[in-house]
Amino acid sequence: MKCLLIFPPQWIPFNPHLAPAAIQGILSEQGHSVDYADLNISFYNSVLTPNFIGKSIERAFNIYNQNIVNVKKVREQKENLKEFPVDFQRIYLRFKELEKINANKQFVSETISNLPAAVNIVRDKEQFYNPYNADKAFTVIKNATDILSSLYYPSKINFLNITAQSSYDIEELKFTCADKEGNLFYTYYEMILPQLLKSNPEFIGISLGDYTQLIPALTLAMMLKKMTKAHVSIGGNLFGRYTDVLINNPEFFSLFADSIIYNEGEKPISELVKQLEGKVKIEDVPNLIYVKDNQVKINKEQEPMKISELPQPDFTHFPLNLYYTPEVIFNIQTSRNCYWKKCTFCTHHHGSKYGIKTVDKVINDIKRLQEKFNAKYFHFVDEAMSPAYLKKLSEKIIEEGIDMKFYIYGRLEKEFTSDIFELAYKAGLRLVMWGFESANERIYTLMNKGELTSSESRRKILLDAYNAGVWNHLFIMFAFPSESLEEAKETVDFLRDNRNIASHSTGGKFVLLEDAPILKNLKKYYITKVEKFRSGFSFAHKFETSRGMSDEEFKELEKYKVEQWRMNELKCRNSWFREKLFLYVCKYGTQNITKMKDEIWL
Ligand code: SF4
Repeated sequence: MKCLLIFPPQWIPFNPHLAPAAIQGILSEQGHSVDYADLNISFYNSVLTPNFIGKSIERAFNIYNQNIVNVKKVREQKENLKEFPVDFQRIYLRFKELEKINANKQFVSETISNLPAAVNIVRDKEQFYNPYNADKAFTVIKNATDILSSLYYPSKINFLNITAQSSYDIEELKFTCADKEGNLFYTYYEMILPQLLKSNPEFIGISLGDYTQLIPALTLAMMLKKMTKAHVSIGGNLFGRYTDVLINNPEFFSLFADSIIYNEGEKPISELVKQLEGKVKIEDVPNLIYVKDNQVKINKEQEPMKISELPQPDFTHFPLNLYYTPEVIFNIQTSRNCYWKKCTFCTHHHGSKYGIKTVDKVINDIKRLQEKFNAKYFHFVDEAMSPAYLKKLSEKIIEEGIDMKFYIYGRLEKEFTSDIFELAYKAGLRLVMWGFESANERIYTLMNKGELTSSESRRKILLDAYNAGVWNHLFIMFAFPSESLEEAKETVDFLRDNRNIASHSTGGKFVLLEDAPILKNLKKYYITKVEKFRSGFSFAHKFETSRGMSDEEFKELEKYKVEQWRMNELKCRNSWFREKLFLYVCKYGTQNITKMKDEIWL
């Protein structure tokens, strides 16, 4: 069967995503003809051009002129905007954005003319490693995405800090996806879909990894449903969280997709293709959500394929020279789900079971990627790699004489010793992204991150890694339920005092997610009320606590961060992303990274 797999925007455009490569591997192995389109990278390459932005400006101002009478009416008569139809409200707010563009014509024209050079710099093997050039280039790109976001308000385009697009209410999603003027993705798909569909695929799978892809993916699915007779299916573990929403929404399927595959998709997708060939009954396709006799049906979930049985991801059709870094960093996986699974805020374990690949299999994957693509840089996407596995993997890499550099995610535990870091460094480990979360002992304990509750015990591990030549990057979380201002400041102080051995994410605010273990024992976390959103695909719940920071204190914390972290400077950084950090550590080494930290905004 002719299959087309699509990875939609928006996702970070720095390397090929693993999920579609894995599905492509499965379908190819079964003898299907499989095309793959990384529309995420194609999207950025199409819209980040002077031609596209120039045309978008012209188009936006034409619409502005057509609506000028109503705009004046709102302004002059000071009528309440809310009394106008929703589509006009959006037009009006977009015009406010356009006025900003009008007032900054020189900035806009400079950004547009500097854009092609900026894109070349970030892909250039020498210029990328000059922190000033790289920062300047990424700033131009960031300004270009801001301009596009204004022209297509409420679309939000962002290269590095991708945020959600709008509300996840189903009615609002329907409106946003079909809003030709305010949905940049609609304009982009109109440009590229005729060419993409020329091969007449019979099955189209859209791989949806995160909320940031929800509107672009649904817009795409909606347009494909109108333009092709192919079976359109959306996969990814996002929808596994919303079966209760989907069961009452047959309209979702007539508008957006013929079917949804929830949770792990490898086995279901191959069964679905067999079903389309008439070889299997639809009721027997596992993990499938679809409509039959006007009713939404949800087929049973089946045990997923073991990670060690999966064929090698197939990157053959990926546009490896079009990502926005000078080196391709290949995503690779040794395990599925997390071996710890106990952190009380975490929902990463939703929809998949823990499984691990043997070291020999992983080494085989690495060797094949090296033979085929001359791959040198690797990102192990596992939720967390255990110290024991890192040791075994490193020994094997050294034994086989493989020349590679890699980075991993880790949970701070005492088994990460200096011996392991020294061994792993020899094997090519250069960066660990740690779930550090909080320096405060009480909060860390409430999070159930593990036995190293004191920040000093965790600092020892960071220091051992650093001394072995491995850079540390810490993920931080603020405003965990019941966290006081003083407790939060303790984390800020820790980060400030350890800047020489670790960088950190700027510290997101805690979000109460559906399925988070916290929901099972609210009292323990001083949560007095939870307001669950179940009207659409919302992902966070509102909650109240009897203990913790007030809004005023949270503002004070932000101020404290500014003072202690020089956050103004950090906010200005447009060129921080983990792939760049990794490549810089590979190039310069941890000691030099410490010296360069002000230049590269660590
Ligand atoms: S936060 Fe990380 S270590 Fe903790 S359960 Fe989630 S994936 Fe595992």
